[in-house]
Amino acid sequence: MIVMDGKHQSSILRRDLKKEIEKISPSSPCLLSLMIEGSSEADSYVRNKEKACNEVGIISKHISLSKHVSENDLIECIDRANQDPEIHGIILQMPLPKEFNQYRIFSHIDPRKDVDGLHPLNLGRLLSGNPLFVPATPLAVLHLIESYGIPLSGKKAVVIGRSNIVGKPLSLLLLHHNCTVSITHSQTQSLANETLTADILVAAIGQAHFVTSAYVKPGAVVLDVGINFAQNKLLGDVDFDSVAPLSSYISPVPGGVGSLTTTMLLQNTWKAFKLQRWS
Ligand code: NAD
Repeated sequence: MIVMDGKHQSSILRRDLKKEIEKISPSSPCLLSLMIEGSSEADSYVRNKEKACNEVGIISKHISLSKHVSENDLIECIDRANQDPEIHGIILQMPLPKEFNQYRIFSHIDPRKDVDGLHPLNLGRLLSGNPLFVPATPLAVLHLIESYGIPLSGKKAVVIGRSNIVGKPLSLLLLHHNCTVSITHSQTQSLANETLTADILVAAIGQAHFVTSAYVKPGAVVLDVGINFAQNKLLGDVDFDSVAPLSSYISPVPGGVGSLTTTMLLQNTWKAFKLQRWS
């Protein structure tokens, strides 16, 4: 069994990205994070992104909107960022207020600045097999698999979770890499019957240690996307201790997929910069 080292893979990618960005000095790509006040978790995500941007030479800007902001105010803010030639990537820090229409909001981000890949045009391009911007977490999962030379073509992949940010785009990426993909979710009957067929099993559920050895075929590659704060610790969706002995490869939490996700966002920002400057 091999424990997949997301931190190491991330440091390789950041080193290469930093070198690329140094070549265009004194220009720099710029990433804008828009967040609505009120979530300490979101605060810490934004701080981590700022730190990661600094590390590779991306300018990080941050606008924090009052928790009383209206949906239209947020859209006006997005429109201003769309018009600003010094901003190359825009991300909306989740969660947004429940009453906001996320589809309408994401539709307002310029697709060429949509580094989270959630504009309908970017989701549609992924569906059609001609992606521009793909959400960072699915890219992180794919990169981790590829960096260990794990073959995908013809393999059975089972993804647990069907969100627009993880489960659905990841399933499409795996399909485009010639996996036979099952997407499972909270209403799936007999989940273990599905997951026990998986050569590649991805857990993106949001429930600590949900996936135990009872869900895993011996020899499977297991990727844990989950980030759950419980028992004062960061826990994945996979019960590592019971699943690791069964699997051929497994990504840990922390140190697996999550370590690569922000790096994929940095890469998307660099891609957005190049697209806006040079094409
Ligand atoms: P989400 O809540 O939008 O989706 C969770 C999915 O899990 C849903 O599709 C739901 O149907 C499914 N699900 C819930 N209970 C289930 C059950 N009992 N059986 C089968 N499926 C079930 O969450 P998300 O945004 O997709 O995130 C999933 C997890 O990944 C969370 O822990 C989140 O914090 C984490 N996450 C990690 C990263 C990263 O970089 N590692 C990035 C984004 C999200």
